[in-house]
Amino acid sequence: MSRAYNFSAGPAALPESVLRKAQTELLEWGGARASVMEISHRGKDFIALAQESERDLRTLLQIPQSYKVLFLQGGATQHFAQIPMNFARHDQAADYVVTGYWGEKAAKEAKSLAQIRIAATGAEGKFTAIPPRAEWQLDPQAAYVHYTPNETIHGVEFQNIPDVGEVPLIADMSSDILSRAIDVSKFGCVYAGAQKNIGASGLVVMIVREGLLARCPKDIPKIFNYAEHAAAESMLNTPNTFGWYLASLVFKWLLAEGGMAAIGARNRAKAELLYGYIDGSGFYKNPVEKSARSWMNVPFTLPRAELDATFLKEAEATGLLALKGHRAVGGMRASLYNAMPLEGVQALVDFMRDFARRNN
Ligand SMILES: *Cc1c(COP(=O)(O)O)cnc(C)c1O
Repeated sequence: MSRAYNFSAGPAALPESVLRKAQTELLEWGGARASVMEISHRGKDFIALAQESERDLRTLLQIPQSYKVLFLQGGATQHFAQIPMNFARHDQAADYVVTGYWGEKAAKEAKSLAQIRIAATGAEGKFTAIPPRAEWQLDPQAAYVHYTPNETIHGVEFQNIPDVGEVPLIADMSSDILSRAIDVSKFGCVYAGAQKNIGASGLVVMIVREGLLARCPKDIPKIFNYAEHAAAESMLNTPNTFGWYLASLVFKWLLAEGGMAAIGARNRAKAELLYGYIDGSGFYKNPVEKSARSWMNVPFTLPRAELDATFLKEAEATGLLALKGHRAVGGMRASLYNAMPLEGVQALVDFMRDFARRNN
């Protein structure tokens, strides 16, 4: 058996060179004479790792100095609750733009903490398009506008950052952070669970404007308070040290690959290859409006659902893993995060073409 092309939506594939490096360093990391998992997060070695990883992320995304970078825990889902807790008052409106499953979940989790408004939703069209900006019902007094730039399950992605005026824009970038260059200065806060494009689950990276941290209320438990986490350099309690270490290796890998411009070009090429094949196949279909198609997650259906099980079985035998779509959408889904090379997408297309020929 050998490593296969892994199209898992998350936890997802990591770059092989990162895994190999972690493997060689597992017993003794740097000069520590112990594993990175076995040393104090407050010691100078780990502090150096923490600082360097932040510097690397700042370089990759050109994060302005007026933003803090936090390495947190709890998964993106915990922050669905923590964000309104920190950035909105109970009696204040918070606007949610819902373009799929995760945006919907974020709004639901926030409900008991602020006056949640659904400013726009793609639910009527079964989340196959982004509601036009002109139709969003934003409240100019809202505490923030929350949206999901890439909806992992529905395969719907914003190609541009929406303009919401003076209200801080908050983005759940769990499945598209570091997939292309972004202008961080357009956001109040960006956060992402690590298990798609950053590393291992259990770590959350947050990039937050300092001005927004001034809102964090004093009367919530300290451990939920982002300003406290920022003041403690993300070491209010023991961080996920191994997850942080893996993230630091992924940041180094991204820099070595040429940074966001090179990664963005590669991700675009991967997506174009797969969508181009699907659209021309006369066999497979992707339901998403072309202008909203995700570079990271590509859902597609076969002409007859009876074929799904055979497709998955044969794909796995060919070395193409985890293509089963989410139950909310059905069919298949290929996730093409940063660690998926173009050759993996080509192998998928070759298999799909062969399968279509045999089952047409
Ligand atoms: C995976 C995912 C989540 C959930 O992350 P958890 O770590 O399981 O909480 C949230 N939002 C988006 C966009 C995701 O892709």
